[in-house]
Amino acid sequence: MDDCLFCRIISGEVPSNKVYEDSLCYAFRDINPQAPTHILVIPKQHIESVSDINSENSAVVAHIFEVIAKIAKDEGLTEKGYRVVSNIGEYGQQSVKHLHFHVIGGRQFGWPPG
Ligand code: AMP
Repeated sequence: MDDCLFCRIISGEVPSNKVYEDSLCYAFRDINPQAPTHILVIPKQHIESVSDINSENSAVVAHIFEVIAKIAKDEGLTEKGYRVVSNIGEYGQQSVKHLHFHVIGGRQFGWPPG
């Protein structure tokens, strides 16, 4: 989608700090990191949010979770633990309307989130 920031990052029109890429997904460092490691993993296909995952497109989400496990290992997050977050809609405070999974780690987190 022309007006989607993350689609423009995938196409290379907007620069990003790439961590991983394959035919289905793209991972890059968050511009405003909330922890020592903060990576966003996104499908190349434009899906707005978790609410739009269905039987037609869910295979890419399973693939993304395999990639997340690999990235977490590569970034040294697996031993201590980390968090995977997807914000959805207004109450979830989703600011970019392209499905993305935050992979955040490298410090202790609290629960529940604010
Ligand atoms: P959310 O608020 O869950 O929609 O997450 C969107 C995330 O995208 C935020 O953590 C932003 O810091 C991040 N972000 C926005 N623009 C960019 C960009 N150009 N490059 C990398 N991360 C970005």
